[in-house]
Amino acid sequence: MNTLLEGKNIVIMGVANHRSIAWGIAQSLHKAGANLIFTYQGERLRENVAELSAKLGKESLLVNCDVTKDEDVEAAFGVIREQVGVIHGLAHCIAFAKTEELEGEYVNTSRDGYALAQDISAYSLVAVARAARPLMTEGGSIVTMTYLGGERAVANYNVMGVAKAALDASVRYLANDLGKENIRVNAISAGPIRTLAAKGIRNFNAVLKEIEEKAPLRRTIDQSEVGDTALFLFSNLSRGITGEILHVDAGYSIVAG
Ligand code: NAD
Repeated sequence: MNTLLEGKNIVIMGVANHRSIAWGIAQSLHKAGANLIFTYQGERLRENVAELSAKLGKESLLVNCDVTKDEDVEAAFGVIREQVGVIHGLAHCIAFAKTEELEGEYVNTSRDGYALAQDISAYSLVAVARAARPLMTEGGSIVTMTYLGGERAVANYNVMGVAKAALDASVRYLANDLGKENIRVNAISAGPIRTLAAKGIRNFNAVLKEIEEKAPLRRTIDQSEVGDTALFLFSNLSRGITGEILHVDAGYSIVAG
């Protein structure tokens, strides 16, 4: 336990189950005293999120929000404004691409598949940052989740890599827009972790094995390590950092070849 986030209201978007990176972040922030608000993608996931959040032993506000729908985003932040008022942080842990776009050659990406991946995985950060901005009257910190596939061509990551590149660029543009209101925007580039979203990526086991062999720390990372880095980015300790992509990947991204 620590008190780094005592009195801070932080919205967590993207808990699907106990393996979700968003859940790792929630646990770290909870241990630091934050008051958490969870959004979930449609009623199908509400029960999962309710069960998990109950484990924190503190009642959390749960709000429906499918980020492909402007009306959902508006309504969700309307409810949060009504029930909580000011927010100090937002964790955006949301991405999606069709499974068939996550194998073979990127050159075969369909127009629909490209648009869908961009909409859910990149544009949604812009939409939620715009909705969260008026609630961040005391300054704030927005943290999103990215991956090395946005910087390099990673086998099978394809359309999602291009969406992550757009997300990374959005982090910089949003940081530049919102900095004058003391709202910081950063991304964590996590090493591969076995989650529901990762299931869609072909040969994911081989990716994990490569990290174990080649990353400087000779191991993969887990949700708690991303969670603790997010804690740093939400806390006052990182007050001078914005527009940054912070790699939490056991050092893998620095190694050539
Ligand atoms: P996950 O499947 O647990 O989380 C993905 C979340 O996105 C789910 O909660 C899902 O409900 C949500 N989502 C998808 N479409 C949505 C929509 N239309 N509206 C609202 N929510 C929607 O998987 P995860 O690995 O925890 O993914 C979280 C983030 O971390 C993603 O951005 C992912 O790209 C990123 N990431 C994951 C890894 C990894 O190896 N797992 C590595 C780097 C980055």
